[in-house]
This record gives sequence, C-alpha cells and structure tokens, in this order.
Amino acid sequence: MHKFSNDFFSMQVNSMTYTDTRDKNIRANFKTAVLSGMNPVTGGLYIPTSFPKLDASYINRTPEPSFREIAFEMAKPYVEGEIPDTDLESIIQDAYPFIPQIVPIDKVTYVLELFHGPTCAFKDFGARFMARVMSYFNRGEKDNLHILVATSGDTGSAVGSAFLNVPGIDVTILYPDGKISPLQEKQLSTFTGNVRALKVKGTFDDCQKLVKTAFTDSALRDKFRLSSANSINISRLLPQSFYYMYASLVVKNRIPHDSKIEDPAIVAVVPSGNFGNLTSGLIAYEMGAPFAGFVAATNANHTIPDWIASGEYRSRPSVATLSNAMDVGAPSNYERIAAMYSLEQVRKLFASYWADDAGTSEAIRLCNDRTGYIIDPHGAVAWRAWDDIRHGAMANVMEGHSGDIAKPGLTANVPQWAQSVVDKKAVGIVLETAHPAKFGSIVYDAIRREPSMPPRLEKVLSLPDHAIPMENDYTSFKDWLLANL
Ligand SMILES: *Cc1c(COP(=O)(O)O)cnc(C)c1O
Repeated sequence: MHKFSNDFFSMQVNSMTYTDTRDKNIRANFKTAVLSGMNPVTGGLYIPTSFPKLDASYINRTPEPSFREIAFEMAKPYVEGEIPDTDLESIIQDAYPFIPQIVPIDKVTYVLELFHGPTCAFKDFGARFMARVMSYFNRGEKDNLHILVATSGDTGSAVGSAFLNVPGIDVTILYPDGKISPLQEKQLSTFTGNVRALKVKGTFDDCQKLVKTAFTDSALRDKFRLSSANSINISRLLPQSFYYMYASLVVKNRIPHDSKIEDPAIVAVVPSGNFGNLTSGLIAYEMGAPFAGFVAATNANHTIPDWIASGEYRSRPSVATLSNAMDVGAPSNYERIAAMYSLEQVRKLFASYWADDAGTSEAIRLCNDRTGYIIDPHGAVAWRAWDDIRHGAMANVMEGHSGDIAKPGLTANVPQWAQSVVDKKAVGIVLETAHPAKFGSIVYDAIRREPSMPPRLEKVLSLPDHAIPMENDYTSFKDWLLANL
C-alpha cells in the first residue's frame, strides 16, 4: 500500500527533518520537535518527513534481534546528526532495563505485555525515552528545565517515574484531588526529590487549564524554562514503535512452531484513546514490520471508529468507562493518522471496533474462562475486538452486513487482510497496556478473583504521601511556582 503524497514528504537529506501536521512547509530538527512538543505557531504536531525502512535482511533474521538492538536501529535515523550512536546506545540501555513480553494465549492470539516497566503501564516505554532525550538536549544548560504535567492517572506516574533523578530537570504533576483511584494516587503522591505532585481541588480539565495558563504566562516563561511532557511529543511516539517491530518479528518466528499457519497475516489489536500507541504501530509498519494491518479498538469514546465508518471526523466530550485511560473524545493523534494516510487507506489497513462497559467486563471474564489469562480492562477491549472479529464479525462484514455504528461492534469497512481472517490465517497480537492489578476491583468484579500485585506496585502502597494541596485557582498556582521552582 502506498503512503504519502510526494509533495508532503519529499525532502532528501542525511539527517531527519520533521514537519508539521498543519503546515507541510515547516521544517524542524529533532531537538526542536522534542523541546517544543507541538508547534506553538500552527498548533500542529511534529511528524518525521520519512520513515526509513529497516533492511529486509535485518527483518528476516532468525532468531530475531533483541528488543534493545531493535530499539537502537529504529531510533537511529530519527536522531541522526543530533545524538551520536554511543549516546543513543546509553539512552536506550538506561531507558529499558525491562522489555515487553509476548505470551501466547491460544493458537492464533498473542498478548503483548507492555506493563513490565516501573509504573506497570505501556506509557513507561515512551516516557522513559523522552526523559532521557530531553535531559540529553538540556545538558550544558545552567538552568533547570521545569516540566509541568496535568494527569488523570497513568501519564503522570509514567512521566514522574521517567524523570525521577534525571539531572537538570524537575517535574510538577497536577492531578484532580479525589478523582483518581487510590493506587493511582499513591503512584503520584509518593515521589520525592525532583518530582512532586499537586492535588488540585478540581477536575482533570481544571488541572489542564492551570498548566496551559502557565505556559502562556509570559512573566513565568521569562523567569523559568518550562516544558510539557504530554503524549503528543514525538519523542514519546517514536519509542513505542520499537515494541511493535520486536513483537512482529518474535511472533513471525514463532508461528511456524505454534500454529504452523503458512503465510499468516499478523494483525496488531490496539486498545486506544489518544491513538498515540496505534500511530506508533503505523511507524513500525512503515519501517517494515511484517504486519498485515491493525485493529483500532476503543471503548464508548468511539470517535475514530465513527470516522472510519462515516468518513466524518467529529470530536466530542469524553465519557467515563471501565477503561479510563482510553476516555478520550478528541484523540490528539487523529491529526497524525490523517497526515499519513487517506481515509481510503485507513479503511484498507484498519478494522475498527468499539466495546461498551458490559462488553469489556464480559471480555475479562471470557478471556479468563477460555485461556486462563487475566487481562486488564484496556487490554480486554482489544481482546474482545479480536475475539469477535475472528468468530464471525469479519465474515459478516464481508458479506455486506453493516451494523449500527451507534451500537458496539465492528465497523463495516473491509480491510485488505479480511480474507485471511475468514481463511483462518490471521494471527492477532493483542496489546496489553496495563497490569491487571492496577484495576484490581474491575477485574475482581468480572472474574471474582484479585489479580496478583507486582512487588513494585505493592511497595508504593506503603510509601509516605507527599502530595501538596492546591486550590483550583491560577494565582495560587503561580505563587506556588514562583516560590518553589
Ligand atoms: C494511555 C493508555 C491507553 C491509550 O493509549 P493511547 O496512546 O492514548 O491511545 C490505553 N491503555 C492504557 C492502560 C493507558 O494508560
């Protein structure tokens, strides 16, 4: 399948240049893209001007290269000329003392466990790379770089943990007091040293507003070097492509032993909110990862499935669900997907599916009954999509039945890999984005068993709480920053 219109991505240069989803004439280097996060002039998101393919001989190597080797090979073209190889190697070694695990749960389903990092969610992969890259670009500066981040849960802990003890940088996390789970709160409030949390008497939107106001306050900006660490940063997106490449190669090499399917179509099934994770999958695909396609799986916040079904993109307010890290009504990476592919291309590459809370809870139970695997509510949305697709939903769509897009299920487009599903030659990689113990009570309600608690989560529960109470009021927040940064 071809990808980009030539005028949009035509620069031929040695080091990577980045452009912007809203203005294709913009050119930036990696450092600018990382330190500014989004283009402050256009409001657009940075995107590489090309996605260099890895060598076929590399992709076909058996056994496949290690995760860290793949990480290095994939990161290299994007930082060329700005971060030397030896420094890139240290960044990767330091960022990834853990690796993803690939667990077969039935003959045609592998779970890609992305929760083996310190905060037990996939955001560790992006945040840890970003933290080290920012620190690298900040070396030699005499003033600290101050990161402000508003969080409704997982992002804050991944970012805080990623920057913990990183020299030259400190982090202030804002979270809505009383509106996140006790475990999530413990993960945020127990940081010490260069990372601290403010518990704001307000909602997540209030926290975000305080941060945004600070960024546009020129008096503050003159005094401090401020930066954000949110999910639109290109240095969080690129490293997430590493595990897609790694998983596709591991699974490709395992299929001849596990299921003996010839010419399998490998499909990545991605539980999505802001669609950063899925966009990273597209980067791996462009770079040569042997995927036949993707499933965009969402909860009741089904803006993207609706776009794929109807052709019209309509963002909306988010609604609360059991998979709360995916409660996004205006997915920020839609812009990147739409810059990379036309709607027709998206419809050929993606199936898209949404599940409601009843379906999510049922999926946790069915997955456990059938395979013994305990999946978290985010992974469960993806598992359900895959289970439904291969047990009739895709065949239905191919016969021309189209369901009501207001109801949970598969959208009516027929992706290029649909026939492989019907021929039983499709293999799914279901991305498990969080450890089930982070959502213990939801899992318990579904299967009447508590998932076991990993020691690193257990430990956080007994640490002292250091969160600083904060009024939902910009002047108080600003005074606090002036007194404490
Ligand atoms: C953030 C998050 C997601 C959604 O990822 P996006 O990149 O925003 O699509 C899914 N699952 C978990 C556990 C998360 O923390």
